[in-house]
Amino acid sequence: MVDSTFRTEKVQQSRVKDVDWDNLPFGKIFSDHMFVSDYKDGKWSDGEIIPFGHFTIHPASMVLHYGQAIFEGMKASKLEDGTPALLSPIEHAKRLNASARRLMMAEFPEDRFVEAVSQLVSLDRDWIPPAEGSALYLRPYMFSTDEFIGVRPSESYRFCIFTAPVGPYYAKPVRLVVEQNYVRAVPGGTGEAKAAGNYAASLRPAFEANQKGFDQVVWMGGPDMTEIQEVGTMNIFFVIDGEVITPATDGAILKGITRKNFITILRDQGYKVTERKILIDEIVEAYDAGKLEEMFGAGTAAVVSHVAELQYKDKLMVLPDVAERKVGPMLKKYIDGLRTGRVEDKFGWIVK
Ligand code: PMP
Repeated sequence: MVDSTFRTEKVQQSRVKDVDWDNLPFGKIFSDHMFVSDYKDGKWSDGEIIPFGHFTIHPASMVLHYGQAIFEGMKASKLEDGTPALLSPIEHAKRLNASARRLMMAEFPEDRFVEAVSQLVSLDRDWIPPAEGSALYLRPYMFSTDEFIGVRPSESYRFCIFTAPVGPYYAKPVRLVVEQNYVRAVPGGTGEAKAAGNYAASLRPAFEANQKGFDQVVWMGGPDMTEIQEVGTMNIFFVIDGEVITPATDGAILKGITRKNFITILRDQGYKVTERKILIDEIVEAYDAGKLEEMFGAGTAAVVSHVAELQYKDKLMVLPDVAERKVGPMLKKYIDGLRTGRVEDKFGWIVK
């Protein structure tokens, strides 16, 4: 438990009783409170928890023009005894600051980040949905607030955390297409940062993939656009002939926290896990040889998103039924179990 260190102004009346828990649209319902802290004159304000509500923003606010905006996505759940729990919050704090450094933004102290998230979730614990697999989605984010026109780093920022209850994520297996015309990121770019602009740039390729009947794109890189990076907003894993492989983070790939946790769990269970450059031709070869056993996306929202089909140029690869897969389903069960306390937290990732 964390001490109540932040000044808190509670709502007069909670809106939680109006929530229809059986019909939770993703990302549209917000809980009662939010955390806000402002950076000015070289330091962060104390930070406070206040009723969820609008900001007013200056028309010249730098974020609207030059896009210094970064965010995190994490989830709070309830253990079987009702205690709210977070998974790897410190990792999210560290990644936010890595993003901040890349975009020349102010870093937010990591211990304060974890305290703020904990205190906010503790206060709004009644907003953590009761159903298995659902969660309170947390959105920590930061944006520049200088009222100034001209390209330079802002000298003031707002850091905010709000939360949104979300229903169970029934991720049906997805159909993917290899994207070689658009690029999400290159080493040295901003792909490793969780920068708002990366997501804006992904919308056109995702739209075009949808038009062709696919759910998402496989992001490619390298000089010939033949190196596999990620899928949609997830990291990617393959199981080939019993070995788990995932692209090495080379500066263009977001360092997913689910990815990192998966690698730890798999190695602990004795799986061979290799992080390396993966070429699309190798995947085609493995598929043709009948050795491509699994392919799945890894991320906070879905945890595991099984890939049903993969289109590369004129070739459609159809993967084995999910019922025949071992690794992806095991990882999903493991993480869901950690979030409810049914799986022992042997790596110390859970913060109550
Ligand atoms: N890649 C991208 C581009 C993402 O947006 C995300 C979601 N944060 C991920 C990978 C998965 O990261 P995580 O496991 O930390 O949610």
